[in-house]
Amino acid sequence: MNFRIGHGYDVHRLACGRKLILGGVEIPHTTGLSGHSDADVLTHAIMDALLGAAGLGDIGKHFPDSSDVFKDISSLKLLSQVAKIIKKDGFIVVNVDATIVAQEPKLSPFIYEMQSNISNILEIKAINIKATTEEGLGFTGGKEGIAAHAVTLICKESQS
Ligand SMILES: [Zn+2]
Repeated sequence: MNFRIGHGYDVHRLACGRKLILGGVEIPHTTGLSGHSDADVLTHAIMDALLGAAGLGDIGKHFPDSSDVFKDISSLKLLSQVAKIIKKDGFIVVNVDATIVAQEPKLSPFIYEMQSNISNILEIKAINIKATTEEGLGFTGGKEGIAAHAVTLICKESQS
């Protein structure tokens, strides 16, 4: 088998009057993430990890924010497209592990639903999502934004 690993990292700024959507789950909070799409920073990091593993660039290349098609779009829809792109290239996803870095709100009550959303789209059970704060340090600790990291392993049968 031909295994590839991929890494994704994304940041969005917190702003008033925006919904907070993480892993496709709308989370009640006083601020939300700003961005061209729904600004789902977790799903964006996962997509970048998958595209990176497949050697297919990043989400900016596939879904440019200059395009009105992607304005306010659910990032889960974009993730389905990424899943199709990866599959077309002959890859299957082995697992995804991701970490959300947010000072607040408390995300543990929503993790299971986020994992289910991602799991349904990628059609694998091995999705692990974690959340951490940065102890009040930096832009995440100062509640200016939320960051997400993701790693993934994908594989296909090697042609010999
Ligand atoms: Zn993003």
